Amino acid sequence: MVIPHDLTTLTAPEARTLLVRRAISATELTQAALDRIAQVEPAIRSFITITADQALAQAAAADAALGAGDPASTPELTGIPIALKDLFCTAGVQTTAGSRILEGFVPPYDATVVARLRKAGATFVGKANMDEFAMGSSTENSGYHLTRNPWDTARVPGGSSGGSATAVAAGEAILSLGTDTGGSIRQPAALCSVTGLKPTYGRVSRYGVVAFASSLDQVGPFSVGVEGSAMLLRAIAGHDPLDATTATTGVPDYVATIRDGIRGLRVGVPAEYFVAGMEPDVERLVRAAIDDLARLGAEIVPVRLPYSAHGLATYYIIAPAEASSNLSRYNGTRYGLAAVEEADVNRAMDLTRARGFGAEPKRRIMLGTYALSSGYYDAYYRKAQQVRTLIKADFDAAFRDVDVIASPVSPTVAFPIGARIDDPLAMYLSDVCTIPVNVAGLPGISVPCGFDGQGLPVGLQLIGRAFDEATLFRAAWAYEDATDWPRRRPPLATAATPAGES
Ligand code: GLN
Repeated sequence: MVIPHDLTTLTAPEARTLLVRRAISATELTQAALDRIAQVEPAIRSFITITADQALAQAAAADAALGAGDPASTPELTGIPIALKDLFCTAGVQTTAGSRILEGFVPPYDATVVARLRKAGATFVGKANMDEFAMGSSTENSGYHLTRNPWDTARVPGGSSGGSATAVAAGEAILSLGTDTGGSIRQPAALCSVTGLKPTYGRVSRYGVVAFASSLDQVGPFSVGVEGSAMLLRAIAGHDPLDATTATTGVPDYVATIRDGIRGLRVGVPAEYFVAGMEPDVERLVRAAIDDLARLGAEIVPVRLPYSAHGLATYYIIAPAEASSNLSRYNGTRYGLAAVEEADVNRAMDLTRARGFGAEPKRRIMLGTYALSSGYYDAYYRKAQQVRTLIKADFDAAFRDVDVIASPVSPTVAFPIGARIDDPLAMYLSDVCTIPVNVAGLPGISVPCGFDGQGLPVGLQLIGRAFDEATLFRAAWAYEDATDWPRRRPPLATAATPAGES
C-alpha cells in the first residue's frame, strides 16, 4: 500500500501494515496525530488534557520494539495513537470524568483497559472531553468546554463520548475508547460518521472506569473503518479478576472472521425502532442500508420488540438510581475538589457537592434518590427492574429467528449547539433506539450509512446476541466494504474558536 501524504488519514489496520513494514515509524505516526491536534483543537476541542510528551515517549518505545526483532511479532497496537475518554483512570494523568468535582484528581493506577492498551503498545495522545459523569447526549454537559462536530462546528458531536468520537473523526487519533451506558458510544459515532461499538455487558472490564450506572456501563472502541474497532476490542476484552462482572467467555479473533461475508445472515427489522419524530432522511438512509444488506445476501425478517417502547422510562429510573449511589463518594474527602474553608464536616461536604456537580448530575442524583426512597422503591425501582426483564425477553424471542437486528442509531442528525440544553426530555430522546440495548445487556455497533440533505452523517445500528460481537463486526464490515462512507472525511474548519465560547 502507498504511504499517504497525511498519516492521520490511515485506518488502524493500514497503520499496522506500514509500521510492521517499517515504512513509517511510530514516532512519525504519533507526531502526525499531535500536529493534527495542534491544527484542529481550536475549532473542535476534543480533549480536556493532551499528553504529547507521554505519547512521544511511548512512540519511541514502540519504535524500539519494532526495531528489536520481527516487527510482526510486536503487539498489534504498537505505535497506534489512541485517545481515552476522560473517565478512564490513567496513572499520573488527571482524570476528571468531565466534572469540576474531580478537577486535579490524578489517579495512582491505570484502569484495566488502559493497562491492557499500554501492554498492547499504544500511544496515548490525550484524555477526551465528555458530558459530566457521562450524563448527556451532546457533550454540552462537560464541566470544561464544548466539543464541536467536525462536520459542522455549529453542531454538537453527540455524547457522552463526544471527544472520543471527534478525535477519531478529525484524525487526532487513529482509535479511541469511550463508554456507553445508554448510547454514549453509538450515538456520537453516528453523528460524527465513525464506527463505534458497545460490547455485551461483561465483555470488557470496568475496573478503574469512573462509574455512572454500574449495571449498564460498558467500555468500547471508536475507529474510522470497522476493522480498527475489532482490533481495539480484541486488545481490551476478556475476564478481569478485578471486575467480578466480567465474563470468562473466551475472546474470539474478531479480525479473523471479519471478511467472511453475510450470505444467509438473518437480519431482523423492528418496526418499533422507526419512531415517530424521526427525521425522514434518517429513516430513508437506514432503510437503504438494510436494502444493501439484503443485496449482500442477508435475509431481512420483520421482528417485534414492543417492550422497547418502555426503554427510556426504565432507563431513567435505573440509571439515576445507580448514579445517585455511585456519586455519593464525591464529597471532598477523597478526590478532587474540596471546600476546605468550611470547618463543619457536613457543611463542607454539602458545599463541595453544590460547587462541584453541574446541573445534570444534580438532576440525576435527585431523580435516583427519589426512586430509591422508602415507599417509592416498589413503585419505581422494582417496577423498572421488572420491565427490564420484559425488554430483554423481547430480544431473546427475536434472536430465536434472526442473527442481528438492524435499526437507526439516533432519530436525528447532529443538532445545533444549544438546541436541547434547556429541555432534558428532548435530550433524553436522542437515545430512544440505543437505550434498550443497554437495558438488555446486548452488543450494538454504529456504522456510517450516509449523509442527509445538509451533508450531516447518519448511522446504522446493528444489535447482536450476547457475546456475539464477531457477527456484528462481520456484518458491519460487509456493509462498509460495499459503500464508501468511511472514506469521506469531514471538511475541517481550522478557524479559531468562535467568539462567545465558554
Ligand atoms: N444520554 C444518556 C444519558 O444521558 C446515555 C449516556 C451514556 O450512555 N453514558 O444517560
